[in-house]
Order: sequence, then structure tokens, then C-alpha cells
Amino acid sequence: MAGVVAAALAGAGAAACSDDDSGGEAAQQAEEDSLNSESLPPLPTDLPAELFVLGVASGDPVSDSVILWTRLVADPMADDGGVGTAPIPVGWEVATDRMFDEVVASGDAVADPALGHSVHVDASALEPDSWYWYRFTVGDRTSPIGRTRTTPASNSEPDRLRFAFASCQNRQNGYWTAYPHLTEEDVDLVFFLGDYIYEEPPIDGTAQPYTSPAPTDLNGYRKRWAEYKGDPALQGAHAQFPWVCTWDDHEVANNYADDLPDGAVATDQSVRDEFLQRRAGAYQAFYEHTPVRLDPPEGPDYRIYRRVSWGKLAKFYVLDGRQYRSDQACASTSVAADVGPVCAEAAEDTRTMLGDEQEQWLGEGLADSEAAWNVLAQQTVMSALPFAEGLANFDQWDGYPAARRRLVDQLREVSNPVVITGDIHLSAVATVTDDPDDPATDPVVPELVGTSISSSFPLADAIEALAGALPNVEYINAQQRGYVLCTVTPDEMRAEYRLVGTVGAPEADIATGATWVLADGDPLPRTA
Ligand code: FE
Ligand code: CA
Repeated sequence: MAGVVAAALAGAGAAACSDDDSGGEAAQQAEEDSLNSESLPPLPTDLPAELFVLGVASGDPVSDSVILWTRLVADPMADDGGVGTAPIPVGWEVATDRMFDEVVASGDAVADPALGHSVHVDASALEPDSWYWYRFTVGDRTSPIGRTRTTPASNSEPDRLRFAFASCQNRQNGYWTAYPHLTEEDVDLVFFLGDYIYEEPPIDGTAQPYTSPAPTDLNGYRKRWAEYKGDPALQGAHAQFPWVCTWDDHEVANNYADDLPDGAVATDQSVRDEFLQRRAGAYQAFYEHTPVRLDPPEGPDYRIYRRVSWGKLAKFYVLDGRQYRSDQACASTSVAADVGPVCAEAAEDTRTMLGDEQEQWLGEGLADSEAAWNVLAQQTVMSALPFAEGLANFDQWDGYPAARRRLVDQLREVSNPVVITGDIHLSAVATVTDDPDDPATDPVVPELVGTSISSSFPLADAIEALAGALPNVEYINAQQRGYVLCTVTPDEMRAEYRLVGTVGAPEADIATGATWVLADGDPLPRTA
């Protein structure tokens, strides 16, 4: 497979679905030996001068390696990205300084046209808990410089981790005024919890109308991703820290579940088949634009759930709450009707959010964990959020009560479980409760809900009044956009809600709207 060849030429095969510990050094050495003789393709003679218009990124760090990413594009709206259809040799370097005086790792990779000329390099044999700088070269062209880092060693006990998490960056809803501020933060890691792109058609009169049409296939998703990735503010935040990215629904289609688009009739197999083809294209575009420690997908099934560890201080379970979920219950047959009256279907034991395999993987990871903090990085609100007597949001965990109960039972057994959440476009601090369906019962798992980067919440006053009155909701702000900054120590996890003044203009100030503290051993969040 071409992607594996590219990674292997780069020095090491990207381990498929790797957890935080990458094993098999002997196999890796054998792979390198067998590929050292493989020659790089020639440099095409007619390449444009500028190939790095999508910037660079890094992600999925472990203690001795990090994934370095770029995608060679000259014209984001051209079918071939403006770079032709031949493979392109790409050099890469990692240094301990911004001037590249001390290069500690380097190699060659191949940007494969079958993968949109994306490049995923597993830069290995690095030191734990260390910052690095990296860049790519094509012929005499050099990419922007990125900064990245490795995690502390798995058996170490770090004093501190700072990370940010963000989600939901609909460009037509507003400007990315948060990103220049995120780029200035002192964080080790950024988690992105989904809705990196939106699949909607261009809408005139919006903040930044799309030039690409609504995507339905690989070519269409590539253009939409390239349009998003072309933004310099987003590129700046990627170039400054490693990111760990999962997806939500809009990377494919709003409110999709398993093999069904929103509102589809489940008995129609042709609808499922057509949607799976679309999903395959969307998933490949996700891979091509994201610095993930994964092999490329082959078809519509793509395991992206994985773990990231910060020594024994924190373990992150990066979940996929879309690909395997049962179709939304009750209200699911009308488009965008997330909220509706509760029916018997919702309570069925067989309904799943994560799917059996991911649920089992998560349970085993939690049971084995020696981490002080165990963080579920995931998509939809897990705390009970009843909108009124008999009404629920069936796209959230409220629509999957049996699956939520199974998960909460697993989380009761682990040290400091915390949920971080995107999707809903508002800031909140809430708790998943002892009876997860009843918000009046005791808190068991704290949940930090991060607002969107730019996606709007249309009924902000109403949700604040409604959710703010629930006994398990400690804080809510649906008016503002931004991200959450978290500082983790053995004693506490502190969450600062960083909120911008507006997304209605290209630039805005940022301020901390609220600071909440989770103390070791206490599931009830407190104000700082
Ligand atoms: Fe969203
Ligand atoms: Ca949705």
C-alpha cells in the first residue's frame, strides 16, 4: 500500500491503530532494511513554486515519536490540487532548535497522488518529553516550520500537562478569531473533538461562503478540507503544537449514524450502499488532512479510536461516537430533529453509541489504567440534559441510555474520570450522575463541554435558561465561541474557558469567561 511505503521510506511504518506504546522494533528494523533499496520517484519538472499552501501539522505524539503531516497542494480547488498526478518525493527534518542547527532525524517520504499527495511521517527515535521543530522540502522548496513535542516516558510521573480542546469550526458561521489566541497559549497538546469541516453547500451572505460545492465524494471532501486548511490562523495553531484529532458527524454528514444518513429509511439497502461510498470518501479526506498515527482507510470502515498518554499523569481515550452508533431513536426520521419526544426505542438495551468492539477496548483500557486522570475525549454531551418532561436530544448520550449506563459503571472504577466534549457549540460544566438518566442524583463523572471555534448556537438564551436550571449543570454559556485550556497536575485539573468577543469580525480579543477546578477524588466541579 502506497501510504505504508511513504511512511516506511520516512523511517518507520505508521503503526495501524496504535495505542500509546508502539511495539515491534525488530519488525520495524526489518521493514526499514527491506525498503532502503527502494528508490524515490523523480522530482516532477513542472511543479508550481508554492506547494505548502495548506501548511504543516503534527500529531498523535508518543514518548519517542510524533506524526508529521503536510499535503502538497498549489490550487485547493483543482482536482489534482494543482500539483499533477505523479508521486512527489518529499524530504523532512526534525531539529532540537528553530534554526535547524541540530538536526536529529531526517528522511524521505513520497507524496502519493492516490492519497491526495498527503504526507504522514512517523518521526521516531526522539527523546521523551522534548520539544522539536520540523519542516519538509520538495526540490528547493521549503515548508513553513512547525513545532512539536513528544510525551513523557510511559512510566514517568509528570508534574503537569497543559492541553487545550476545541471543536466545531463552521466557516460560514463566523471567523476563526480564537486561533491566533490559541497559538499564543502555553500548551503541550491540542485535542480537536470533531466538526473540523462542515459539509453544507455555500450560503451567500455568510461570514466566509464556501467556494467548493457541498461534498459527496472524495474529490469534493478534498476540496472542502483544503478550503478549511488554507486558513493561516488555523495553520498557525497546527504549526505550534501537536494535535490529536477525532471526528464528529459533519466530517461526513449531519447526524449520520453507522451506515445511515440523517432521516434515511433504514430498510432501503441502496441508501445504505450509497452512503457507505460517500463515507469512504469522507474518511479518506479526513486521513489526508489530519496528522493521525493511522494507516489510510481502505473503504468505509476506519478505526480511529485510540489512546494518548502523558506518563502516569493522564490517559486520554479518543473516541469515535459516530461510525458505530445505532441510528438516533424516536426523532431521527426528520432532518435536524435532534430533539423530540421520548419513545420506547431509546431505552432498548441493544442500542450502542460506541459499538461493541470500541466499548470493549475502552473498558479494557480503563481497567488497565495506572493514570491519575482518565479523560474521555469525545463528541456529544454525556450528562443528562432533559429539555423538558418527556423530551430528549437523541443525538447525544441521552438518546443512548443503556450504553451510557454501561460506560458509567466502567468509569466508577477508575481514578478521576473526566469527559471532554464538543458538538453542542456551547460552554458548560456538568456532571454525569449516579443514575445517569436522573440529573438530581449524585455526581459521578465531571464533564467539561467546550464551545465551538465558530459554529453558532441559535437559541442561546433559551438553552441557558433551560439547562442552567438543571441540578447537574454547574455552568453554561451559549453566547460565546472559543476553546478550553486545561492544566492537569496530580492534585487537580483546572479548566479555563477562553472566550472570544466575537466571531463576526476577522479579529477579536479573548478573555477567560470562567475557571473551574476538578480536585483529585472529587467528581463535583468547583469554581476556582
Ligand atoms: Fe458542530
Ligand atoms: Ca449534528
